[in-house]
Amino acid sequence: MSVSTRIDNKIGWVTIDNPPINNTSQIVRAGLLSAVSKMDLAGVQVVILSCAGKTFVTGADVKEFAKAPIAPHFPDVLTAIEEAHAPWIAAIHGFALGGGLELTLACSYRIADAEAKLGLPEVKLGLIPGAGGTVRLPRLITPEKALEMIAGGKPISATRAADIGLVDGITKESLDRASLSLAKRILTEPKPIPLSKKSPRKLDNPSGWKEAISNVKSRSRGQNSIVSAADALDRSLTLTGKKALMAERKSFLSLKDDPQSLALRHIFFAERGVGKSVRTDGQTAANITRIGVIGGGTMGSGISAACLMVGLHVKMIERNTEAAAIAAIRVDKILSGAKDRGKMTTKTKAEAMKQLESTTRYSALSDVDLVIEAVFEDMDVKREVFDRLDQVTRPDTILASNTSYLDVAVLAKNTQYPDRVIGLHFFSPAHIMKLLEVIVPNDASGRAVATGIALGKRLRKISVPSGVCDGFIGNRIMSAYRREADYMIEDGALPLEVDAAMRAFGFQIGIFQMQDLAGLDIAWAMRQRKTESLPTSERYVAIADRLCEAGRFGRKSGKGWYDYTKDPRGEVDPEVTKIIEDESAAKGIKRISMSEDKIMSRILNVMQVEGQMVLKEGIAATSEAIDVVMVNGYGFPRWRGGPMFIATKS
Ligand code: NAD
Repeated sequence: MSVSTRIDNKIGWVTIDNPPINNTSQIVRAGLLSAVSKMDLAGVQVVILSCAGKTFVTGADVKEFAKAPIAPHFPDVLTAIEEAHAPWIAAIHGFALGGGLELTLACSYRIADAEAKLGLPEVKLGLIPGAGGTVRLPRLITPEKALEMIAGGKPISATRAADIGLVDGITKESLDRASLSLAKRILTEPKPIPLSKKSPRKLDNPSGWKEAISNVKSRSRGQNSIVSAADALDRSLTLTGKKALMAERKSFLSLKDDPQSLALRHIFFAERGVGKSVRTDGQTAANITRIGVIGGGTMGSGISAACLMVGLHVKMIERNTEAAAIAAIRVDKILSGAKDRGKMTTKTKAEAMKQLESTTRYSALSDVDLVIEAVFEDMDVKREVFDRLDQVTRPDTILASNTSYLDVAVLAKNTQYPDRVIGLHFFSPAHIMKLLEVIVPNDASGRAVATGIALGKRLRKISVPSGVCDGFIGNRIMSAYRREADYMIEDGALPLEVDAAMRAFGFQIGIFQMQDLAGLDIAWAMRQRKTESLPTSERYVAIADRLCEAGRFGRKSGKGWYDYTKDPRGEVDPEVTKIIEDESAAKGIKRISMSEDKIMSRILNVMQVEGQMVLKEGIAATSEAIDVVMVNGYGFPRWRGGPMFIATKS
């Protein structure tokens, strides 16, 4: 039974039980509709609506979106609840998301437990709320706050929900008891007017509203659902509730068939499926409580902070005491940032810092369960580190490298127990970026692999298994399109044009801007190391080398592909243009201009060709895995679904 009812002393209890996440599939919608009739017939004075299991309703059944809508339709169910004889109270625990939050808005009161989260994330699936979210929400909270929730799609905490008037109360005790006492308090009160029959709330800042709407639209970077969400909300303020509901539904149904929504749903399912196909040989993950991190630089400090934030003990090893002290300060700074963003409190931050030991002593690693090496990207340095790890760690401690390109299997071969070695390729900043490539050498044990995946889950990352090759899935494909971008600037485009084409496609920044951000020196050093092994037949573009020879290492040196000395956003530098044109001339290339479309089609094409090779070689298990990597690690616009998804559509 997905929806059960009981009546106790004129108070009705309606419970949704549709595991695992109580979504509003057809059986729940039908159950709710029949619960409304039952409660009305029984003449109850108030109804308490709650959910069994870990959470309140977390939204629609996304799989149903691909089919024709089946009755009863959710908006009709919500209208029935709104028009029920008795007031309904939504008792919220866990998440009330999408249709879940819309369900609470059809109720007369909302009460939440202190840990609950509430949100309308529809835009993330290329949709807008389709059952009154854009209509009822601005009739409960101010339109500005509604805009933030609907166009941003991020859930808010119960405390914030209480502050802005989205819930009538929060409780730290039993939700049932709290809802019952609210029910008893309102027994004699008249039923409040349903939200859809009310006028919208007054704007906080009437003269700033149009600008707020246009700001949201201009930040959408081509995502239709964000624009439609802002429009629906704006419209809802001028229409009657009834008309606004009809207009919202129309917009929702047309977005359901929008290619952007199909792409976003593709990536939604891809992210959920991607870690499941990994080879663990039936073995289970090791229990992890203590972690060693070697190197406390950019990545090591970020990885340490990420681990501390989920309650792990971290022993961070640096080269000397000064470096160890600086590394600890880096971690402290990251955690302070997390505190400022509301991810930690002063107390939890202090507790986390107590779990950190920053030291030079490798012997401190004798009791750790897993080590993540994040020292310089140099095989000799890494080999030496693995030698020492081999001596000081327990034989069952899993050893992982955060290398970006190097061969993890070679590192493994150097150790006494190669089957315990894997790669854990974090992205920068490691405490924020969601992607984790779990690199699986052929000899790795199922236990080591399962542990890598489990750690990713604990850190709330999206773990994508990858085989071993130069650059794994992501950096390998990125190197390919970076190479193509180099070809294009030698053939006639300018860095600004390539970057503009990528931004117009939906990337936040272009490939040359990205290189300036990361620094040009590391790739330069890598190219110098590899020059001898390059086949002479392969086209080589030396423009980036010329930039480095001129001391242009990117933002950190004030100049790179762009000049940052006057404008921190970067300006085109005639010196770079001259270097580019001279290189083309030296090779006898007659430069030709390229349109944005041409530039993007060349970039997409190499992504797809390299992606096919990655698949063929078994480096990625599925094309979905490639899309997940490119979207979550390389800024590929999510609403386009990823390069491989696009290839299936063309
Ligand atoms: P970094 O230079 O910021 O930090 C490296 C740290 O390692 C330094 O603090 C250094 O003192 C320390 N170190 C060097 N040798 C050591 C040793 N023998 N024992 C202990 N500590 C030692 O470099 P980073 O950017 O953090 O990169 C580290 C690794 O992560 C590299 O393999 C890199 O390819 C990889 N990576 C980097 C990024 C990125 O965006 N920076 C992203 C993913 C992976």
